[in-house]
Amino acid sequence: MDTENTEVFSLQALICPKCGSGEFKPIGFKGSASREIFSQLGLRTMAHTNEHGPLVCRCLQCGTKFTGRPRPAEPEELLESPCTISLTRSGGFIGALIDFPVFLNGVRAGSLGSGQTIEISTKVKHNVLFVASETGAAFSNFFRFDAVPGGTETLTFSR
Ligand SMILES: [Zn+2]
Repeated sequence: MDTENTEVFSLQALICPKCGSGEFKPIGFKGSASREIFSQLGLRTMAHTNEHGPLVCRCLQCGTKFTGRPRPAEPEELLESPCTISLTRSGGFIGALIDFPVFLNGVRAGSLGSGQTIEISTKVKHNVLFVASETGAAFSNFFRFDAVPGGTETLTFSR
């Protein structure tokens, strides 16, 4: 098995500890690690590390807040061929000069400036993508979608 640099992460195992639902909304990253990285070292440094606290989520069924971390994807979650995600950031005046970090399945996948389009490759079927502010809080307009092998998922983020 070739595992070097090819580990693929998933949030598929993340479920509400109270009701067992897998439907959740990402809220952001929690903990001293993320606070240090985001505020003391600044966003630019954050852009080069994946070290942050656990992901905080809110259950869409019962409202329970819980935390979790991405896990390596199970073999049955993998796509036969990768899907390309084309993410465009449109509009917005506040913070327009700031590049926001983009997280795919809880793992940093790039950064997005105002008016920019970035392409991210995903290798898993079920995807959760969100953009975070410089404080590590996820913007409420997140994306949850099933990727098509070899396809392209076009998303627009307005902020
Ligand atoms: Zn729940």
